[in-house]
Amino acid sequence: MEIARAWLGRPVACACGRTHEVPIAHVHVGPGAAATLSGWLAERGVQRILLVADANTYDVHGREVLAALEARGFAAGVHVFPQRHGLLPDEQAVAAVEAALADAAPDVAIAVGSGVINDTVRYASFRRGVPYVVAATAPSMDGYASSVAAMQFAGVKTTLPAHAPQAIFADPAVLAAAPWPLVQAGYGDLIGKAISLLDWKLSRTLFGEYFCPEAYRMVLAPMRYCAEHAAEIRARSETAVAALFAGLINSGIAMAMMGNSRPCSGSEHHCSHFWDLLAYRGERDHMAHGLQVGYATRWMMRFYRWTARWLQARTANGGRVTQVTLPPWTEAEDQAARSFYGAGAEEIIAAQREKRRWLADHPLPAEGVAADEILAALEPELSLFAAVEASLDAMDIPQDPRGLDLDARQLRLTFLRAYELRSRFTVFDFLVSQGLLAAAVDGVLAEA
Ligand SMILES: [Zn+2]
Ligand SMILES: [Zn+2]
Repeated sequence: MEIARAWLGRPVACACGRTHEVPIAHVHVGPGAAATLSGWLAERGVQRILLVADANTYDVHGREVLAALEARGFAAGVHVFPQRHGLLPDEQAVAAVEAALADAAPDVAIAVGSGVINDTVRYASFRRGVPYVVAATAPSMDGYASSVAAMQFAGVKTTLPAHAPQAIFADPAVLAAAPWPLVQAGYGDLIGKAISLLDWKLSRTLFGEYFCPEAYRMVLAPMRYCAEHAAEIRARSETAVAALFAGLINSGIAMAMMGNSRPCSGSEHHCSHFWDLLAYRGERDHMAHGLQVGYATRWMMRFYRWTARWLQARTANGGRVTQVTLPPWTEAEDQAARSFYGAGAEEIIAAQREKRRWLADHPLPAEGVAADEILAALEPELSLFAAVEASLDAMDIPQDPRGLDLDARQLRLTFLRAYELRSRFTVFDFLVSQGLLAAAVDGVLAEA
């Protein structure tokens, strides 16, 4: 699985009609990545470096990167968080990295790690105006290439503007040795694209939402590869784990091309966000993002199959979908949202109003859209569902809601309300617009 290098570091005119500009200059996945990284920095005239890791990532890769830097004669400062568990991208972590940056005054910071280390270094280095590069240690999430930082300030998850890394380096041997829950989470985050790509194409087919076929293919190909090679990932084949990592990086590149997360985050992510919300209320435990997305993918495949059967029943007489409108959002809905969502309600109210404005600006064609045209847009993903399902089993993504600390009541609530969380159109909105959501939820829960 190749990294989508053709799109990196310069503006590229695309077949979709737009010019995409991905800020990351370089991605390297290969053996000896530590040496490649120090060579890359030397070519750029870098002199002073600050390496940031935690106790685990320092052991598995940081020491090797530091040795490679010292072998080239760099002046390298080091900040290693002592934590082996529970490090958060919070105020203290940011303050520690900012202090180390002030101390070392580096030309470049190196984040050795995955999620938390990356977000913390991305945010702290952005605040201090220092460029950074990534030495990745796990294929655990699709945010390596991101330019926003997922932080947790005052105990609340929040996404803040930051900068993208200049370059990403990864050694397949290091990736393949990553802790299993991190591999599993990365797998879940990537395989969820089977759904987010469908939500994107559904909206494109109905409303002509902007669609980039290059970004689409960049996400589809590794998702398909991973669905078909889960057993090798499970067995820690370096080739297969590197392909998973490449898929996560390409997902980040696709999002950078689009300027938003449309290709990589749809109804499966909205379910996961809803479960985060239940966890914040203390109604269930917090679980890894990717594990939640993988589990949600099982459910969203059922919703897509249900929807496909409904569309299929309409194709015989050349049936068309002639209206896609959401019920009006009024003061009463504002009140209901405030009583249900509490502190988060205003964001949700704004998203719902925005979604209705967007739909008003993007009407269906006057003659509607043929049911078989919508069905055709659900391929090839629909045909990949069996492989996706088998791969989720192979990766031990739970089948039982108790594996995610969810019960039947919470699941029903999730499927009835997840569409409220974001302004983005998904299959849930389609079902609402046809007056079908309650029937689909009943049908899907009964069949599972
Ligand atoms: Zn995700
Ligand atoms: Zn494009």
